[in-house]
Amino acid sequence: MNRRIVVLGGGLTGLSSAFHLSRRFPEALITLIEKSPRLGGWIFSERVQVHDGDSHTAEILLESGPRTLRPNAKSVLELIHLLGLKNSVITTPITSSAAKNRYLQIPETQGLITLPNSLTSVFSPPMRTLFLPHVLREPVKRRNRPSGITDESVDSFMNRRFGPVFARTFGSALVHGIYAADSRQLSVRAAFPSLWAMEDRGWGSVVRGALLPAASTSREDYDVGDIPDMMKDVSVYSFTEGIGMLTGALATHLQNQINVKLLPDTSVSSLGVVEDGQLQIKLANEQMINPTHIVSTLPLPVLDDLLSPTSSLPHLTSNPASSVVVLNLVFQQTEPRLHPAGFGYLIPRPPSGYSLENPGILGTVFDSSALSAQDSNVANFTKMTVMMGGPNPITPAHTSIDTVLKHLSVHLTAPEDFLKVLPEPLYARTQHHVDCIPTPTPGHLERMDVLKKTLAKGVWSGRLEVVGAGVRGVSLGDCVESGKRVGQNWMS
Ligand SMILES: Cc1cc2nc3c(=O)[nH]c(=O)nc-3n(C[C@H](O)[C@H](O)[C@H](O)COP(=O)(O)OP(=O)(O)OC[C@H]3O[C@@H](n4cnc5c(N)ncnc54)[C@H](O)[C@@H]3O)c2cc1C
Repeated sequence: MNRRIVVLGGGLTGLSSAFHLSRRFPEALITLIEKSPRLGGWIFSERVQVHDGDSHTAEILLESGPRTLRPNAKSVLELIHLLGLKNSVITTPITSSAAKNRYLQIPETQGLITLPNSLTSVFSPPMRTLFLPHVLREPVKRRNRPSGITDESVDSFMNRRFGPVFARTFGSALVHGIYAADSRQLSVRAAFPSLWAMEDRGWGSVVRGALLPAASTSREDYDVGDIPDMMKDVSVYSFTEGIGMLTGALATHLQNQINVKLLPDTSVSSLGVVEDGQLQIKLANEQMINPTHIVSTLPLPVLDDLLSPTSSLPHLTSNPASSVVVLNLVFQQTEPRLHPAGFGYLIPRPPSGYSLENPGILGTVFDSSALSAQDSNVANFTKMTVMMGGPNPITPAHTSIDTVLKHLSVHLTAPEDFLKVLPEPLYARTQHHVDCIPTPTPGHLERMDVLKKTLAKGVWSGRLEVVGAGVRGVSLGDCVESGKRVGQNWMS
């Protein structure tokens, strides 16, 4: 069959889809269409020039979007192997302080508290009261999942099993760190399926379930070479030039394939099935394309807008998405250091809820500690990234550098040996990312099953696949995994 496949969207999911499709269907013509002149979507890594007062200049690596990968995503290890990126990987070992020390900043208090990283640490204050009793009580708490429910919010799940204080403190902070969302809105089954499975496995107890072996569900069809060996005892990793190296290498590889055409700076204005049953894509420049198959990696509400009325699909607008302000800060290195050694900290939902009265900060990553090798030639700088917004309402006043520095000084003041007031940064950059992380709400997995079934029959009859961060997970690993699986039903 003479396949003409179009991939919509040139973020990580789109690039991974095109990569795997070009291998699976070497005889097909694959065209990737991306609205922006730049490929990569939310992934963007760049070096900026930073000068200090002592005539040092450095090219510091800044990330606008994602900054770390976890080694358990085999689909990404496979890309590293197949794209020859092995020598560019930089890792954070599980034994390093950056991996061991993660902090919480409790709203309306000063300083940071260390999250438990060992058995002994859960017995020290404040974890002895904040964490330990709730976890110890959970296995003896009666089974309490309401009969017949198939999903609920992360907050409701944690509330049921660990109580409201634990749910607000740890549950909301975790959700801020991954989804920049309100844990009361996020589906536990979509976001943390392993928690739901542990409760099932542990006869109603998450802690009991965590201690029992899980049935293996992962497929093992990955061509990873010796990459897993270098990922042993690794907590997180990235690349010498940031996560953008992954999308950059994918784009370069695709450019060199004779069966792939990349069309950046090209916007899709509509798509659907026309009267004779053909698939049709209309571009903003009025050009028409009639592919045999389409993979959409567009945000679901964008796809909804583009579909013609006769080709509409269910549940594309069911979920909201979070907007995030990313503030990259580079400081002159000081003694004592500006922050403790560690990955960074998260801030839970304030006890009084989200309001304009709060600083609006979700958390801060200590980049120069977490991935110090990226700027290893640079000794005199400290780099941090502050994430703001999500469920916190924010105004321009919240994101002004002076206001943020004032809050960071409060967060980083205790213990006593850290600086009391943060100095002026040598470099600061603020970026507003609108609707950048989808929030799958309860019932999302069932809705996506309905979507999949609708796509398999009727006017689309299996010729359109819908994937991407809004469908089966927002992590980089989820995006690459979904790209690897597209087109598997098009073999015949
Ligand atoms: C600030 C931030 C930090 C993050 N940190 C991490 C992290 O540390 N680790 C991690 O695993 N994940 C992280 N994530 C999540 C992860 O980066 C994203 O889920 C992932 O990059 C999404 O990739 P995607 O290809 O599915 O979507 P996108 O990157 O959104 O790609 C979709 C593409 O479609 C294009 N498009 C839209 N409309 C049209 C149109 N009409 N025609 C043509 N093209 C169109 C867009 O321009 C875009 O390039 C983070 C996300 C953000 C925003």
